[in-house]
Amino acid sequence: MSSAQVPVYDVAIIGGGTVGCAIVHELTGRGLKSVLCEQNSQLVQEASAGNSGIVHTGFDATPSTIEHQCLEDARILNKAIYNKYNLPFEERGALLVAWNQEQMSKLPLLLKSAHNNGVTGAHLISREDLFRREPHLNPAAMGAMAIPGESVVDPWLTPVTLAHKAWRHGAKIMRECKVLGGHLEKGSHWLLETSKGPIKSRLVINCAGLQGDIVEAINQPSPFGIHPRKGQFAVFDQSAASLLQSIILPVPSERTKGVLVFPSVYGNIVVGPTAEDQTARENPQVHQKVIDELIAFAQFVVPELAEHPIVATYAGLRPATQMKDYHFILDKNRGWVTVGGIRSTGLSTCLAIARRVANSISTSQPHVTYPEQRPKLKRIADDTVEMDGMSYRITHPLARLGFTNKRAKL
Ligand SMILES: Cc1cc2nc3c(=O)[nH]c(=O)nc-3n(C[C@H](O)[C@H](O)[C@H](O)COP(=O)(O)OP(=O)(O)OC[C@H]3O[C@@H](n4cnc5c(N)ncnc54)[C@H](O)[C@@H]3O)c2cc1C
Repeated sequence: MSSAQVPVYDVAIIGGGTVGCAIVHELTGRGLKSVLCEQNSQLVQEASAGNSGIVHTGFDATPSTIEHQCLEDARILNKAIYNKYNLPFEERGALLVAWNQEQMSKLPLLLKSAHNNGVTGAHLISREDLFRREPHLNPAAMGAMAIPGESVVDPWLTPVTLAHKAWRHGAKIMRECKVLGGHLEKGSHWLLETSKGPIKSRLVINCAGLQGDIVEAINQPSPFGIHPRKGQFAVFDQSAASLLQSIILPVPSERTKGVLVFPSVYGNIVVGPTAEDQTARENPQVHQKVIDELIAFAQFVVPELAEHPIVATYAGLRPATQMKDYHFILDKNRGWVTVGGIRSTGLSTCLAIARRVANSISTSQPHVTYPEQRPKLKRIADDTVEMDGMSYRITHPLARLGFTNKRAKL
């Protein structure tokens, strides 16, 4: 292909995880000619395939961070899209439970910071109220803070629907397209070298998750390094569904938010995630010893879980960096936007991140109105569905279980 024949895009998005899918949806919706390059054969196959599927309110976010602002914006943006596209979503609410007197004494401070973060619906509840809501909880629970807005969604169908909508409106979604390098040509556009040939684009967006620092080096020495943080999970059989209504959170420690016990949007009770630093950036493994500890913890929180089998275990890697906050860098001169280190809230904030990116590149083009609803899904194999003739493998274990149990509507 001669240089003149190389297609020219307004924007090239590197990475088809939750963040990239939301960005291509937003920018295509604003009339930009977009291409999304994903190195894997499927979208949503890396960090985004190993999360908890929880949409956080940000009650415990660090004030004045970009993450905090995105969580605030997300409280408005998310519901509108979930409803519009009929995406599986349940506002279960969370209960942050105190198991001893020391934890009880921390609740008022946690409530104050939730209110300061704009989560005004959070409130303390008595032991009686706690057991009225969750009668199967271990009687050792002493009290709790209720956080009404915490929710669960389908963590796979949500981003895939966003990318699919964009594709229907002209975005190019290139799978098995690894971006290998690139340079600015005559200061006017990027020439990206990919495993599927060259791509020209006026603007490049790096949302490469666990490879974010490596991709960043195409434009500049990366100001952040990725330090993967693994989270492991165990999933109980659907037979346990009636044992828990809410997301049960622990009182956080200095180091970690701790392990949760929660229902997935398709009714499986899940325990996890752990927080384990490691160097490998791919194929996170589960370890039986850790899974056994998680199961024991879940059975402490809800003792009757001991009567229900585990149907799946899985692990995901958070794209953590040396900083807690997101790395959002707009390099206008070189036409490069960095959206890196979206560590542990990217499913909750992806729409807000996408809005932020779109506003920062200040396009004046009109907003395309995507038709309501998502297209019907057709099951074409155990783990694969089709939408409008485009096939997608269900990469997230919680979504796969929902489709297997026929809880997910086609
Ligand atoms: C254990 C765990 C629990 C979590 N729980 C929650 C939760 O409950 N709620 C929540 O909101 N968030 C949660 N998260 C966080 C959330 O999953 C992440 O913030 C989000 O998935 C990050 O998405 P991403 O698109 O930035 O990264 P990724 O999903 O990793 O996507 C990046 C993509 O870029 C691609 N890529 C990389 N390099 C290249 C290249 N050179 N060329 C082409 N493509 C490339 C990769 O293949 C990948 O698909 C959790 C994460 C983990 C791991």
